Amino acid sequence: MVALPFRQIHLDFHTSPLIPDVAAEFDPDEFAQTLKDAFVNSVTVFAKCHHGMSYYDTKVGIKHPALKRDLLGEMIAACHRYGIRTPVYISVVWDNWAAEHHPEWRQVNREGKFVGAEPFQAGWRWLCLNTGYADYVAAQTEEVVKGYEVDGVFFDIVMQWECYCEKCRRDMLAQGLDPENAEHARQFARQVCQRFMGRVNEIVHRHRLKPPSITTAACASAPAAKRTFTPIRKLSRYRRAVGATCTFPSSPAMCGRFGGSFWA
Ligand SMILES: [Zn+2]
Repeated sequence: MVALPFRQIHLDFHTSPLIPDVAAEFDPDEFAQTLKDAFVNSVTVFAKCHHGMSYYDTKVGIKHPALKRDLLGEMIAACHRYGIRTPVYISVVWDNWAAEHHPEWRQVNREGKFVGAEPFQAGWRWLCLNTGYADYVAAQTEEVVKGYEVDGVFFDIVMQWECYCEKCRRDMLAQGLDPENAEHARQFARQVCQRFMGRVNEIVHRHRLKPPSITTAACASAPAAKRTFTPIRKLSRYRRAVGATCTFPSSPAMCGRFGGSFWA
């Protein structure tokens, strides 16, 4: 098993597109030196945030309009010069840009309403992983792992509630499930989540086969989120049990705080 980096930072960086001058004064060496001085071994850097903004020169997604540089690339290169690992963060089900531009990708509740924040309300809007949105995130994932020397990927908010969007209802019926049966809808949501995780995991490992190559998904399904980050703990135990050459570079450091003794 690969040793877990001892000192890890989750650098949360959700930046509204309305904020100007993003990273205008960023100094890559000062950034990495500061982490080095703090004995940091690994830092999560952002590819895409909950606003749906990307922090690199993306052809798939939407780069933050006020960002004039390849922040992700500069962070990774600088950290690697200083011997610091850089797993990359991708927000999954929360992507406000995608929700606003593709309402057909949104999760729909049993009352037929979109899940998440309402039109004039601040907050996150939930995307359905059984729609074209999954293709969008898969393409973003592929772009990032092909384009950068990532040390892992942290897929955040992989959470699918029982969804009653047109696509989910149609697919449930095609599988012989009854959309009006809550247990069937839950079962289908879990299936959608697992299919998505398998898909992006395959992409990461196809392009980053050198160990340690890591994918981590926070909150495998919405009901499980009530027991915060439990799926990650279980996944970790499973991977250790099968001797998988992998570790979790940053998210367990964060999740451990919320979820108790992650490594117990
Ligand atoms: Zn759906």
